[in-house]
Amino acid sequence: MSDAKIRKRRYERVHAGATLSSRPCNGALRAAPDRTPAAGRGVRATAGRPRRCALRAPPARAHAAVRASAGALPGLHQLFGLTAHERNDIPVYADGVRVFEIREADGQKVGLFYADWFGRSTKRPGAWMNSIRVPNGLLGESPIVVNNQNITRPAAGERALISLDEAQTLFHEFGHGLHGLLSTAHYPSLSGTAVSRDFVEFPSQVYEHWITEPTVLQAHARNADGEAMPTEMLESLLKAQTFNQGFSTVQQLSSAILDMRLHQLTELPADFDAGEWEAAQLRELGVPEEIGMRHRLPHFSHIFDGGYSASYYAYTWAEAMDADGFDAFKEAGNVFDPELAAKLRREVYEVGNTRDPAESYKAFRGRMPTADALLRNRGLK
Ligand SMILES: [Zn+2]
Repeated sequence: MSDAKIRKRRYERVHAGATLSSRPCNGALRAAPDRTPAAGRGVRATAGRPRRCALRAPPARAHAAVRASAGALPGLHQLFGLTAHERNDIPVYADGVRVFEIREADGQKVGLFYADWFGRSTKRPGAWMNSIRVPNGLLGESPIVVNNQNITRPAAGERALISLDEAQTLFHEFGHGLHGLLSTAHYPSLSGTAVSRDFVEFPSQVYEHWITEPTVLQAHARNADGEAMPTEMLESLLKAQTFNQGFSTVQQLSSAILDMRLHQLTELPADFDAGEWEAAQLRELGVPEEIGMRHRLPHFSHIFDGGYSASYYAYTWAEAMDADGFDAFKEAGNVFDPELAAKLRREVYEVGNTRDPAESYKAFRGRMPTADALLRNRGLK
């Protein structure tokens, strides 16, 4: 496979994976109302509101500000001993893009990180990471990775204020970035984020956990005047993280199960009716009509498009891994535990696709993940 194809595949994988950054409450608001019974419409109409209000109201947004240049650095340094040094001598492709050289604690260069965080009229929406060059021993090349986001650009001389959602997305994409930067694989085709669909979101999602750590938020969430977020607001922000998770979990799992069942069909009759099949499956699973699926079959593009075939479950599976993986740090009593951080780097971020992801996870965690931490984080246990 040519380098261009490898890069394209890597871009598509990580780009597609970036949709995981969408928070579940948005999914609830997007749900199609056409077949929802009257009682269900009531559930849906209010389902996403309180959480969005808690996170989006101007005071919360103002205090959820993270100084963009330093937003991802706390974990970077405290977890992996890495530092970021801005390289103003390197030309950039658009105004507002910044380049950082990531270095080891001893000053050795790891690679270049392009921060393209702000929106502009020619940029597509969303957030994603892509590798311009992957690290590899074969050609002795160092990595160049880009993080893209669409944060509103601040007025000249002012600090960018971002919501907690945007801060989580920033950390998410930086997790992908680290996966691309820290790889030690020999072959480019096995390097960095070129891993299986149901593993590529683990390095990014586990990194998200550090932004909601109270010590990190208190140290880095600042309003326009540089003041820290009041404790009460911080607590309500964190509490809002579990809002509506029962609804969202049922929606997500019903779509994942039907996706797999559809791919297990060995025969498709000429008069196959997707609507009837979907309704029968949901009845059998006991999914409440008021909740239904995150994506109804007629518009469920993951089924056959974008390489997700039968892997919609990967969203929830990655969340089980990231919740369980971060739990290891909580169990250690230190979210920056140096031994665990070294294991996470060595066994997950560095290995790329050079071995079975299950082996990588077990080498880091000592066992396969359970659903306990995921359910606890969602407020369901
Ligand atoms: Zn992602």
